[in-house]
Amino acid sequence: MSQQVIVLDKVELTRLMKHYEQNEIVRNAPGVVFAAKLHDTAITVYKSGKVLFQGAGSSREASGWSQAGLTSPTAKIQANSKGDSLPSGLANLSVVGSDETGTGDFFGPVTVAACFVSKKQIELVKELGVKDSKQLTDDWMRQIAPDLKETLLHSVLTLKNDKYNEVQERGWSQGKIKALLHNQALKLVLRKMGDEKPEYILIDQFAERGIYYNHLKAAPEIVRENVLFSTKAEGLHVAVAAASIIARVAFLEEMDRLSSLTGFQLPKGAGPKVDEAAARILLSQGENTLKSLSKWHFANREKAMKIAARKKK
Ligand code: MN
Repeated sequence: MSQQVIVLDKVELTRLMKHYEQNEIVRNAPGVVFAAKLHDTAITVYKSGKVLFQGAGSSREASGWSQAGLTSPTAKIQANSKGDSLPSGLANLSVVGSDETGTGDFFGPVTVAACFVSKKQIELVKELGVKDSKQLTDDWMRQIAPDLKETLLHSVLTLKNDKYNEVQERGWSQGKIKALLHNQALKLVLRKMGDEKPEYILIDQFAERGIYYNHLKAAPEIVRENVLFSTKAEGLHVAVAAASIIARVAFLEEMDRLSSLTGFQLPKGAGPKVDEAAARILLSQGENTLKSLSKWHFANREKAMKIAARKKK
């Protein structure tokens, strides 16, 4: 079994224990002040300041902590993003990335995509025009998504509004909906990969690891191996950026379809324009139609109803 030992000072130790707080376990061994268990790593902190990491994830977990007496951290930690401490050189490894879109939009689905980018494909994917998707326009993403889908093993899931509203009314939070969709998309990509395995799976983080896996408790198959979470992950590996683009374009395509049903372009987001459009649909096509196009629990519903009532008078 692989293991790593590092020595930390008090400040760094406190930070580490806080970091693994959610995964704490009781271990009554001599000299042990804290212990935690992740799906692939056991962490033991000793009174001396020594920290022992054991298991498949030990080097991943051990990296990023500043060792006592050393001037530089043992490995580079991504200071600008939240989540796991990341292996150095992550951007150049073979990675399955996943991301979602549509969760903040009143109209339209939630979509999640996962895709695999091998080491060898990284340059090609960049040449196809993949950058941090936050910097890309919808039109550009529509243009490059077909090439990406053709080039990369991927899976994209569209949770349409009827289904979304049904599970939401059953009590599912958006976090749970997202976690289940990410897990499903990842599973499908891994299946398509056959015997090939990614070095890491990188999820654009929307929940802490513990919360994410808690949502998946009842799932029949849970993807756990080599999973990393980070916010702003689309800037950390092109696999997440590509997944983000594929998810976004799936969202846009479903919005196009819904817009053609309503007869006008449905606005994105959840702002005043959305309230107006929703009121227009209420007045012309009624509540059931609006519900079938939207995330019904959003506050936009109430606002639209008020606007519609005012206009009726
Ligand atoms: Mn995201």
